[in-house]
Amino acid sequence: MIVIENCAVATVDPAGTEYSDGHLVLDQGRIVAVGPGHAPRYHRPVRRIDGTGCLATPGLVNTHHHLYQWATRGMAQQSDLFGWLETLYPVWAGLDAEVVAATTAAGLGWLALSGCTTSTDHHYVHPAGAGDLMAAQVEAAGGIGLRFHPCRGSMDLGRSSGGLPPDTVVEETEAALAATEEAIDRYHDPAEEAMLRVAVAPCSPFSVSPKLMTEAAALARRRGVRLHTHLAETVDEEEYCRRTHGCTPVEYAERLGWLGPDVWLAHGVHLDDAALDALAGSGTSVAHCPSSNARLGAGTARVRDLLDRGVPVGLGVDGPASQEANQLGAELRQALYAARLRGGPAALTAREALALGTVGGARCLGRGDELGSLEVGKLADVVLWRLDGLGHVGIDDPVAALVFSAPAPVELSLVGGVAVVENGELRTADPGGLARGVRRAHRVLARRAR
Ligand SMILES: [Zn+2]
Repeated sequence: MIVIENCAVATVDPAGTEYSDGHLVLDQGRIVAVGPGHAPRYHRPVRRIDGTGCLATPGLVNTHHHLYQWATRGMAQQSDLFGWLETLYPVWAGLDAEVVAATTAAGLGWLALSGCTTSTDHHYVHPAGAGDLMAAQVEAAGGIGLRFHPCRGSMDLGRSSGGLPPDTVVEETEAALAATEEAIDRYHDPAEEAMLRVAVAPCSPFSVSPKLMTEAAALARRRGVRLHTHLAETVDEEEYCRRTHGCTPVEYAERLGWLGPDVWLAHGVHLDDAALDALAGSGTSVAHCPSSNARLGAGTARVRDLLDRGVPVGLGVDGPASQEANQLGAELRQALYAARLRGGPAALTAREALALGTVGGARCLGRGDELGSLEVGKLADVVLWRLDGLGHVGIDDPVAALVFSAPAPVELSLVGGVAVVENGELRTADPGGLARGVRRAHRVLARRAR
């Protein structure tokens, strides 16, 4: 049993309950009490954690990522999405299991240090002969200790068939479907407290055939897993859809059976009112990636309009090649800024930004009943943010300090009550070793791309 006390608490429950001085009690991986003041006394061994100077929030949920891109940061610096992809696809053609293992561990370790306790990954590059990339990811993620939702991505529409990626990085349609089903068989855990869940995730309209999209949706629904893809990210993508399919990306997704309460879409930047209504009416969720959208100059998502229509919206750091900082805690502020640049200073509050990063993300992943808020019965995924240092001191409202000010140091991060970050340090891996792994992976890809 773990007791955390003497800290501010933002529960992010439906009533928005907060305590300026409160406590949390965790037992067997779940939250058993949360409230004001000190925790009750227990007649059994209890680990007491003094949260003085900290704010407790639910662990952040990252809803969109491409961990392998840790090995290819800082490239195509002035490119838009299509130009950036065309620069990077040939480099990614050199991926193998070792590169994927190193970047997965490094990326998840870095995410843990920015307050993330659950992360997806969308891995859609499977070059022939690259090895078992899903197995490499799962093993590396297990070592870091975050809840992990690997999305088995795929591409089958190479350049020779009218797609954007070179033929060297796409798979055969049937092979992609078979590998996706195998990933579900081997790794998907439907249990409530699952550390590992698999989703089905063909990459994007310009790299995936309609056949793969349709059959992937059927596969996911037959197996009871969730669906993820990129949609409505850029103007170029919209033009591609209009030219190739005679409709908008959201109309295309609807036609293929890709809207629904089991689907979460990355980006959703370029949405007209009809598209917003279609997402809302179908219960589809959106992974909002404001830093990546800014880095690639893709545009600013209509987050206020999505929220006003009741669309679940989570946050994603997106791949580190299109968003080199890749800190999930920092996306709270970026989301607030993006919404306000579009809609003015009342367009998003600090509390709404925190809700995007927590309960909104949990809903994207279909885990709103288990994750995303500090409520009795939910899983014990908790972050203590240190707010008494120079970066945050003197801001009376702790949620405003967390969202408006510099990315706050994570004092403690618990996943199911198990410490992943403690005293501000990653407990499950050595960051120096992770960095060396990324450096090696970067050199390997650079050499193979020559
Ligand atoms: Zn992406």
